[in-house]
Amino acid sequence: EYMQRIETLEPKVRAFLSVTADLAFSKAKQVDAKIAAGEEIGLLEGIPTAIKDNMCTKGIKTTCGSQILANFVPPYESTVTQKLQQAGVVVVGKTNLDEFAMGSSTENSGFQVTANPWDLERVPGGSSGGSAAAVAAAECVVALGSDTGGSIRQPASLCGVVGLKPTYGLVSRFGLVAYASSLDQIGPFARTVEDAAILLSAIAGYDPSDSTSLKVEIPDYTQFLQPTLKKGLKVGIITETFGEGLDATVAATVRNAIAKLQELGAEIKEISCPRFRYGLPAYYIIAPSEASANLARYDAVKYGLRQEADNLVGMYSTTRATGFGTEVKRRIMLGTYALSAGYYDAYYLKAQKVRTLIKQDFEQAFEEVDVLVCPTSPTTAFKAGEKTADPLSMYLSDLMTIPVNLAGLPGMSIPCGFDDQGLPIGMQLIGNVLREDILFHVAHAYE
Ligand code: GLN
Repeated sequence: EYMQRIETLEPKVRAFLSVTADLAFSKAKQVDAKIAAGEEIGLLEGIPTAIKDNMCTKGIKTTCGSQILANFVPPYESTVTQKLQQAGVVVVGKTNLDEFAMGSSTENSGFQVTANPWDLERVPGGSSGGSAAAVAAAECVVALGSDTGGSIRQPASLCGVVGLKPTYGLVSRFGLVAYASSLDQIGPFARTVEDAAILLSAIAGYDPSDSTSLKVEIPDYTQFLQPTLKKGLKVGIITETFGEGLDATVAATVRNAIAKLQELGAEIKEISCPRFRYGLPAYYIIAPSEASANLARYDAVKYGLRQEADNLVGMYSTTRATGFGTEVKRRIMLGTYALSAGYYDAYYLKAQKVRTLIKQDFEQAFEEVDVLVCPTSPTTAFKAGEKTADPLSMYLSDLMTIPVNLAGLPGMSIPCGFDDQGLPIGMQLIGNVLREDILFHVAHAYE
């Protein structure tokens, strides 16, 4: 059924960079056989799942949305996909993304632009736009995305699905193509909070292959889904996020959703995070800096594309000039500049200090409340082409999601209504470190 939907819808939605039909059918048959034999099957067994194409899948092309990796077939499996294989999911394909996860619309993909299933002229958000669109169009049940500055939550919001960026270190990054390593985190997309909880329970956990992986017990996250909200739960509205640049309908809809939380018994408070607004500028120093180092590995020798030239440096430069797209080049240049001798203290070090201040704002907030809420994205889905000429306006899409990555906290986007054109609006819930339990609890009670 899902394969049929993919066949019918893909010419319009273009969520997938590759569809792994043969593998999917053979896996599905194995599950069928188990069922026929009367064996018990796990919760995720046989579930059609899509994987963002920046997670390595052994023997299956992994492009990261870049021409430089157009023919790259990984010789190993990422930890997350390994865990999902073990849980018995059926991988239906690899989804589109902005090249190297740099973007907020999938328009920076080196291959195709994905359409928003709610309005095909609009973008699905990004960078995990393919995964969000695939879940929204029911081309799969659940999907994995990655989130460095909002790339799970913003597309979830624009496509009307649930998306969670877990606490930094909760999910292994082994086999995830690195963008900005101190911010990158893998997480689930789903149509319900329960499905997201099931998926996170399967992918989370300590992994010795990722040096930033946390050694913590992983609960079954579905135990936190209860019909009613815990008594005395305190919810903080981040005052600053309701300021300039926020679409009026988005503001009103999220305010309504917060009122519903109050009706459900939550105590609502306004909370100020005054340094939140420095998140975006700090991010656009830190993320490109880390990216410029991470992307140095694409040298025409170890991976992917090679353009021959007369000498080694010539080979590096023609390969990189042909293989990388405009946005990736912009970030490599920004990062290389910010890290260069003499500028390091002024830019990178300063941005890291800002990062600490943002963390302190969150720490203070969580002394007063259990969970913070704000809009996920300042607008609903925008038209393809609308922001491509102005990188700064595109960067502003992530105003409210970026501080969460800088502080390493978990953040979830859940659908909370529609604008007057019928486009979905998302509300972001932010928890303290490793408090995914509260996010699931509140999101489920709201849903
Ligand atoms: N849109 C942001 C960027 O372009 C965030 C991307 C992400 O989270 N991967 O960097």
